[in-house]
Amino acid sequence: MSEIAKKTQVVIVGGGPAGSLLALLLHQQDVESVILELRSRDHVLERVRAGVIEYGSGATLREAGLAARMDREGFVHEGVNLAFSDRLLHIDFERLTGKHVIVYGQTQLQRDLYDAIDRAGITLVDEAEGVDLHDVDGGSPRVTFSQDGAEREITCDYIAGCDGVHSTTRDHIPDSIRQTFERLYPFVWVGLLSETPPVSDELIYANHPDGFALCSMRNENLSRYYVQGSAEDTTDDWPDDRFWETLKARLPRAVSDRLVTGPSVEKLVTPLRSWVSEPLRHGRLFLAGDAAHIVPPTGAKGLNLAISDVVYLAEALAGFYATGDETGLEEYSDRALARVWKAVRFSWWMTSTMHRFPGMSNDFDRRLQKTELEYLFSSENGQRSMAENYVGLPL
Ligand SMILES: Cc1cc2nc3c(=O)[nH]c(=O)nc-3n(C[C@H](O)[C@H](O)[C@H](O)COP(=O)(O)OP(=O)(O)OC[C@H]3O[C@@H](n4cnc5c(N)ncnc54)[C@H](O)[C@@H]3O)c2cc1C
Repeated sequence: MSEIAKKTQVVIVGGGPAGSLLALLLHQQDVESVILELRSRDHVLERVRAGVIEYGSGATLREAGLAARMDREGFVHEGVNLAFSDRLLHIDFERLTGKHVIVYGQTQLQRDLYDAIDRAGITLVDEAEGVDLHDVDGGSPRVTFSQDGAEREITCDYIAGCDGVHSTTRDHIPDSIRQTFERLYPFVWVGLLSETPPVSDELIYANHPDGFALCSMRNENLSRYYVQGSAEDTTDDWPDDRFWETLKARLPRAVSDRLVTGPSVEKLVTPLRSWVSEPLRHGRLFLAGDAAHIVPPTGAKGLNLAISDVVYLAEALAGFYATGDETGLEEYSDRALARVWKAVRFSWWMTSTMHRFPGMSNDFDRRLQKTELEYLFSSENGQRSMAENYVGLPL
């Protein structure tokens, strides 16, 4: 414990992907930081979450020397498939944009980040409890916390709130300044993991009159499938048989005929919402990642936004320490939010286009949804726009 510095340049609250990558990018630009993480290392490493790395996120990780295992073990996906009216449309990312995405689990990425943090000698305090911020809008910010029952304090120049959706650092932005924007979707995703070969080499997103379905994968013998459920559903409502029957019914016949089913090894229910808190800066505090915004998983953007936020924040902080110029710090919130909102738009569009909304039987909204999909199926420009957003807009 005695090795925890009492003073550093940046205290980072939260050691998820945003906090860990920020510490590494800062370290590479000679900026010192300490990470305070509430959970144990094993807990953080066991959380199964995102799996799609945008093209630009992959390039960022590569430039930072963090992509060796991703490039070895990740799966390059040159497109995705959309299923609608028993037809399958391949959105060919490589042909339409010259780019691709990489399917690589967030758990694996988190392990790569922690390994790199250890190699770099960055202090990561696990199980840091009761983290509290002081003098955030004054000249002498400090962070207090306890570890193993001992009270600790670190003084610093800046604080990065990377503490995820239940962020408490965010609460230090006064209500009079903070604005939140939210859209709740009236359904959930029921997810099932099975030790079976994936039904397709690439993801399949299906729009069916009964609801959405998604075929995804972790590796050659580990498949991840999702079906849309009702807002009040729990995993108890979805025994394996019901799940597989529902999934099969929502996929084109040519796909469902080759689906290999098996016992679930994990099942989860994920609510869907879009949510943004603005601004991302107050005084000496900066927010990044899920602490500041949540998107529904449909566009696979959450993890990628955490990465783009911290790329901008690391640039701004390193720029300040190198030159004393605060322009980058002043522009961080607007710069990051401009990209965040484009991902919020795309995730909302994919969610709206691919799901059945309550009350949507044969009405105006369903007609529009069908027309949107017919347009995509028939227009290369429409497909290019989707591909451009899916592989990720430039940083
Ligand atoms: C079930 C699930 C499925 C998902 N699927 C996808 C997907 O398919 N595609 C996608 O792109 N995104 C997905 N996401 C979102 C993606 O996982 C997040 O966007 C990403 O983890 C954001 O990284 P982060 O570092 O900002 O937040 P987090 O990963 O949440 O990390 C925040 C860290 O802060 C720590 N912390 C919290 N409070 C404190 C505190 N008071 N003091 C110290 N530390 C604290 C937490 O323990 C955590 O380690 C999914 C999320 C979930 C929950």
